[in-house]
Amino acid sequence: MITQKLLSPGFTNAKTAKNERLSYILYLSPHKQNSHGLTVCPKATDGCINVCLVPNSGRAVVFNRITEARIKKTDFYFSDRIGFLTQLNKELFNANKLGEKLGKKIAIRLNGGSDLDFFTIIKNRINVDVLSSYPNLVFYDYTKLIGKVEKYADHPNYFVTFSRAENNEEDCKKALALNVPVAVVFGGKIPEKYLDHVVIDGDKADDLMIDNRSVILALKPKGSKAKNDKSGFVVR
Ligand code: SF4
Repeated sequence: MITQKLLSPGFTNAKTAKNERLSYILYLSPHKQNSHGLTVCPKATDGCINVCLVPNSGRAVVFNRITEARIKKTDFYFSDRIGFLTQLNKELFNANKLGEKLGKKIAIRLNGGSDLDFFTIIKNRINVDVLSSYPNLVFYDYTKLIGKVEKYADHPNYFVTFSRAENNEEDCKKALALNVPVAVVFGGKIPEKYLDHVVIDGDKADDLMIDNRSVILALKPKGSKAKNDKSGFVVR
């Protein structure tokens, strides 16, 4: 049990702050950066882990408050799934009420730092069908799970983007064939086309993927680890 909210307002993230829609995002601590040593990113690669994780070389590490809060939420998830999912569902219920009051759809990204199928997990654990229960919410996510892309490619209220990494080019092509955008980190000049699909600036806003399907979302490398990536995660 934790006292903080699970969903953070979109303005807490530079890119989500640029969203056209009022947005909320659930940040967990990526991969195995939690006390249980369990992953929330089943398809994480060496390249993306290196770029994404706060470094921990095994020595005592002092995390900043943001990382600590994310680890706390992830620990909550692994130690009390029902409690976590019940709280998450309550916060989604409240966001849906807010959307109703404002008369507009609110964008929700549940995998900010994770890659879980929360809709199936919530349905299985607490028997709530989130995708059909909250008409004032629209959901979006990045994923490296091609199975998730295939499952939700045509969903009218859940918009996924496949995330390219150094080892999943074939899955990128499968996603594009399903009309699903692919996010690619480009270290050099951004090309006009990649894998024969038009490239647009994916850093413009986080909810672009809801309105732009079957495109490449170009992302710039963020931070020195991404800029110095040698794994192939960043395309040069
Ligand atoms: S880039 Fe995505 S899959 Fe990779 S560690 Fe970060 S959140 Fe997980």
